[in-house]
Amino acid sequence: MYRLVCVHCAAEYAPEQILYTCERCGHLLTVSYALDDLAVTRDVWSERPLSVWRYRELLPVQGEPVTLREGGTPLYHLRSIGREIGVSELYAKHEGMNPSGSFKDRGMTVGVSMALELGMRSVACASTGNTSASLAAYAAKAGIPAVVLLPAGKVALGKVAQALMHGARVIAIRGNFDRALEMVHELCLSHGLYLLNSVNPFRLEGQKTIGFEAIDQLGGCVPDRFVLPVGNAGNISAVYKGLTELHTLGMIDRYPMMTGIQAAGARPVVDAIEQGLAELVPDPDPETVATAIRIGAPVNAEKALAAIRKTGGTAAAVTDEEILGMQRDLARKEGIGVEPASAASVAGVRALVERGVIDRDERIVCVVTGHLLKDPETVVKQCAPPVEIDADLRSLLSALRL
Ligand SMILES: *Cc1c(COP(=O)(O)O)cnc(C)c1O
Ligand SMILES: [Zn+2]
Repeated sequence: MYRLVCVHCAAEYAPEQILYTCERCGHLLTVSYALDDLAVTRDVWSERPLSVWRYRELLPVQGEPVTLREGGTPLYHLRSIGREIGVSELYAKHEGMNPSGSFKDRGMTVGVSMALELGMRSVACASTGNTSASLAAYAAKAGIPAVVLLPAGKVALGKVAQALMHGARVIAIRGNFDRALEMVHELCLSHGLYLLNSVNPFRLEGQKTIGFEAIDQLGGCVPDRFVLPVGNAGNISAVYKGLTELHTLGMIDRYPMMTGIQAAGARPVVDAIEQGLAELVPDPDPETVATAIRIGAPVNAEKALAAIRKTGGTAAAVTDEEILGMQRDLARKEGIGVEPASAASVAGVRALVERGVIDRDERIVCVVTGHLLKDPETVVKQCAPPVEIDADLRSLLSALRL
């Protein structure tokens, strides 16, 4: 049993209402469960495979979900990078290992399942890329049409390729992500499509399982810190919300410091934290090589600021050079291939350790959010091209300087 509750004024709504914002105050809604009545234990969960659906008692879906087997992603111990930074307990949860290659799949398995349960027959989103790739795949699995709005020219090649191949109607607008989101929100309200951006309360329910899995993978230990790249700030809010539920259920007894990392050219959440603002000031013109977090007006900022402040966490910005440098380090020193936005979390840890904000004794889980192959163009720009030679051994030995 659950209700939809406004995060701002606590107004309550019945779960079957198609609603993305509070009718009273316009703020976002969140899913609130009757946790006291919930009969669930860690033992029940640990008997199931590691996946989003291990935690189904804390998910809103009643029937059979629309699933492509999302979640259950590896948690890697970053031994080499950790040694360099001086943090021995540094981990990366590789969300690029989800079916469509990003954590958005955790949200979409729940979001598209709810779309069907609510009787919706078409879905839509605005996207910096990964949301569209994921929605297109889950809509295909569900057998319903999807419409996706992208900022023209600002979406990584692999993500557009996925949205197109999975059969979504892909529209590129001459404007940025924030404008695309306003437009698709209006479209959904006026034409009855189901909106699956992170304003959708059900989608974030799926994403909170990143935190559940990481704790399970650490043998039930709560890390000292969770570090996430922040775009719309849905993911960091979702992970924190999940932790509050585990806390209420008595499954954890403390909170990790929730830490959000943004790019230097798109850092409204960092500014709000550093300046102690109650509300964030949108950036009309965000810019970064990490296109997945190229967002100037994060819709979940209110929840994210609360998550960071209540857990004694922080927010920090890293430059595009730091992001790309860490993308290369993860690839070359750990064998982990991620897209630029994902590397921001680990780059942020390095920067915060150097600034003395993060203690070297901390046990830290970085969420790396999307796969290397999402953005091949940014990879190719950073690496020397293959050496082309004649097809004989002498040329090969000479090219290898042997
Ligand atoms: C969506 C996305 C983000 C940002 O997540 P938010 O919930 O919008 O803060 C970060 N990295 C990647 C790869 C993403 O796809
Ligand atoms: Zn309200």
